[in-house]
Amino acid sequence: MPLADGQPFAVPAPLIDPFGRAITYVRVSVTDRCDFRCTYCMSEDMHFLPKADILSLEELERLCTAFIRLGTRRLRLTGGEPLVRRNIMELVRNLGRHVASGALEELTLTTNGSQLSRYADELRAAGVRRINVSLDTLDPARFQAITRWGRLAQVMEGLEAARQAGLAVKINAVALKGINDGELDEMLVWCGRQGFDLTLIEVMPLGDMDGNGGGAVREEQFLSLRDVRADLEKRWTLLDSNHRTGGPARYVTVQETGQRLGFITPLSHNFCESCNRVRVTCTGTLFMCLGQEDAADLRTPLRAETGDGALVQAIRDAITRKPQGHDFIIDRRRGPAVGRHMSVTGG
Ligand code: SAM
Ligand code: SF4
Repeated sequence: MPLADGQPFAVPAPLIDPFGRAITYVRVSVTDRCDFRCTYCMSEDMHFLPKADILSLEELERLCTAFIRLGTRRLRLTGGEPLVRRNIMELVRNLGRHVASGALEELTLTTNGSQLSRYADELRAAGVRRINVSLDTLDPARFQAITRWGRLAQVMEGLEAARQAGLAVKINAVALKGINDGELDEMLVWCGRQGFDLTLIEVMPLGDMDGNGGGAVREEQFLSLRDVRADLEKRWTLLDSNHRTGGPARYVTVQETGQRLGFITPLSHNFCESCNRVRVTCTGTLFMCLGQEDAADLRTPLRAETGDGALVQAIRDAITRKPQGHDFIIDRRRGPAVGRHMSVTGG
């Protein structure tokens, strides 16, 4: 509708939650499936969702576009493994148009890297400029033990393809006590040589693994990044940095390598006060907070009508219920703080 001040169309009001935070960052899980079975994420005999429950690529595009119209500036595709979804590049290319038009500041994805040899060039051509690649170790045997089905060499080839395609890479490593805590120095050196930033993530109590495929017990793997940072500071000069990527990581610059090191510390440091993001699962369920159960069904309005009125209203209603923060507690007696797997919510 033309406006009195000459603007051709009314710009919809942005999404502001009850605590005054503008919601400008959306993570969308495009599949619950994966070619790896990381011990902290999935059980070995995962049961995946029936196809009819999963949003089609067209539905995912409509959903993302609705968020972009409501002020989303950054969009991250995740999973499961986003690059194992059939025809995923169709969605990436269509969303990339919003980057080209300036409506979207950034389109990015989090991947295990296994399919990057195949897709790195196409991602870059579609408008993706940087990606997060999850890699917890540089040791092939340890890599296989953590991912169960992964092959380190394949990920390394993928990373090389990403570099050649001109994609900036950030490595995400979950800090696992007794598993990779002895090689963090080596990873810093390696990332420095490759020109990759590194972000360390505290293992989070998501999904019930016990008695379900022999999954790992997370409280035994939990490593406080406060302690990790204190230990690294004995050997490295970590300079505070104001760098922000719109995500939850806090960064330092490693003087010796010149690369950034990020810390995502949901347990030892609460980062909720500046939270600007929400997550949507591959079934169209909107989670307003990673650590809370409250959710909104966006699939029903998506499938109910071809227009987006009901969808937009459902998103707006959900944002009015965004909680102030999460409440993760690692305690085996109480079970997992949140009973769903990271691969369902999207990491
Ligand atoms: N498959 C892709 C990948 O691995 O990058 C994207 C999805 S994965 C669920 C996203 C991120 O969540 C990964 O970096 C993974 O290490 C992390 N993750 C999975 N389970 C986790 C847990 N229990 N605690 C902390 N991080 C977890
Ligand atoms: Fe797959 Fe990523 Fe979960 Fe590992 S962390 S099992 S790669 S979804």
